[in-house]
Amino acid sequence: MTRAVYRFVEHSIRHEPAGGVTYELFCTTHGCWEASGPQGDQVEAQGWALRHTGLNPGHDLFRRVFTDHARVSPTGGS
Ligand SMILES: [Zn+2]
Repeated sequence: MTRAVYRFVEHSIRHEPAGGVTYELFCTTHGCWEASGPQGDQVEAQGWALRHTGLNPGHDLFRRVFTDHARVSPTGGS
């Protein structure tokens, strides 16, 4: 008979600033698939949406996506 011994280590997860944050906006107007693309600056992503609405009246609702990075580290307990 074989026995397995598992050792569990507690970990925590937290935002990692070094990974950066990206901002992306997607036009939700039916039939429009345009998006800002990932931007490292929220103002740039929002600027794209303002220009998009200016060029395409009625395209005034956007889905915003923010991504960041997270690091998992052992909590130090055993
Ligand atoms: Zn659009």
